[in-house]
Amino acid sequence: MDVDSFQQEIKYCSRCGSKIEQIEIDSAGHMHHICLRCDAVFYDNPKIIVNTLIECNNKILLCKRAVKPKIGFWTLPGGYMESNETTDGAAIRETKEETGVDVKNLQLYALFNCPAINQVYFIFRGHVHNENTCTSEETSEVKYFSECDIPWENLSYGLMRQVLDWYFQDKTEGKYRFRTDDTYEICPD
Ligand SMILES: [Zn+2]
Repeated sequence: MDVDSFQQEIKYCSRCGSKIEQIEIDSAGHMHHICLRCDAVFYDNPKIIVNTLIECNNKILLCKRAVKPKIGFWTLPGGYMESNETTDGAAIRETKEETGVDVKNLQLYALFNCPAINQVYFIFRGHVHNENTCTSEETSEVKYFSECDIPWENLSYGLMRQVLDWYFQDKTEGKYRFRTDDTYEICPD
């Protein structure tokens, strides 16, 4: 998909409420919105998404999406980082919200740059503090899967397949290496 179509159009100034009438494109082609009334400049920066890869009793924690897009597909717990959070703090919060599971001691495992859709993914490995699960508004099912039961054909995105694939390779070798890739796949909003 065209890069420009992912750049968000900002219609009103969040500082003074005026209509944004000026858009500036810099030399690299990035769009900035400028408020002519209060001089505020708005940048369309990438969104940060965090996910956790949590193993408990030799099984991996996955949740089934209850919201668009990809309703009914399985995914690693995760979501958008909020303002004033750390990346691992956001991953702990999202995992708790979506699965009910408390996780701790997160370590960065993989980083995906998705410039085409203006997103960056941080995937953390971590330990379970309390393994009890529950569903949420965003998840219709939460379950721990052994490697042989992973629903490979029903995973939400190729990115999830890739990270699980790396994880099981590393597990076999007994050494978890930091992984990174630049993927252009279309991911959820
Ligand atoms: Zn303004």
